Amino acid sequence: GEGLPRPEQTRVIVVANQKGGVGKTTTTVNLAASLALHGGRVLVVDLDPQGNASTALGIDHHAEVPSIYDVLVDSRPLAEVVQPVPDVEGLFCAPATIDLAGAEIELVSLVARESRLQRAIQAYEQPLDYILIDCPPSLGLLTVNAMVAGAEVLIPIQCEYYALEGLGQLLRNVDLVRGHLNPTLHVSTILLTMYDGRTRLASQVAEEVRTHFVEEVLRTSIPRSVRISEAPSYGQTVLTYDPGSSGALSYLEAARELALRGVGVSYDATHAHIGA
Ligand code: ADP
Ligand code: MG
Repeated sequence: GEGLPRPEQTRVIVVANQKGGVGKTTTTVNLAASLALHGGRVLVVDLDPQGNASTALGIDHHAEVPSIYDVLVDSRPLAEVVQPVPDVEGLFCAPATIDLAGAEIELVSLVARESRLQRAIQAYEQPLDYILIDCPPSLGLLTVNAMVAGAEVLIPIQCEYYALEGLGQLLRNVDLVRGHLNPTLHVSTILLTMYDGRTRLASQVAEEVRTHFVEEVLRTSIPRSVRISEAPSYGQTVLTYDPGSSGALSYLEAARELALRGVGVSYDATHAHIGA
């Protein structure tokens, strides 16, 4: 794909929403692949014990594979668990294995329990433009580790009736982490996912979100697309599974918008490949 301006420093983006099924994992892997296709070097950190991001990227994550669990709990260097993603140049993944489910408890008694991921990332020497962290659907220690490691929070929001419920709790947690552990943390980006503009409800919710978060919501939204939901079962992102699909084009466009905002270039949707 065409190149985009690269950030001066690695942007660490925490993809979080304690609600399950809102498109965190889908957004993490497809945005990451899009940023890599645009010419960036991108690492996905899978912080959900389910390992869905690892699966979707075609990364082996059975119980014996060195994983983010070893990094968090045993202080293993991040470089020892990172794997290149097949078929996408410049894209890498630190996989999650099922033992990560225990880490939430095990971390409690460890020193610097909230900043173990941050330390691992700081010690990682490979040059990267972006690190995207896929969080579990909870606000426990794994998500706190992500929020201490990153400066930016990206919240995927599904445009349905309960979309904004629970958002207050997430925002309060961001404030708490900023106040106590990471002064740089802020909600930089909100992405509307599984958007069906034909329904009244979806457009009403989208309108409400855009009114509340004028600066944060990307102009590009992600449509509901069967191709997006099929891709993970082939161990692929929609960018390689069906590059011409509306889902692929919308993630490429969202990535472009994210990259341009990061370098302070205003985004002009009139050049978008698809409607924003
Ligand atoms: P989360 O990580 O927040 O739990 P997922 O990314 O796993 O959410 O998405 C939940 C489900 O919705 C998955 O089955 C996924 O394939 C599907 N999905 C996500 N985004 C889309 C979309 N834009 N169109 C269709 N299905 C989607
Ligand atoms: Mg997920």
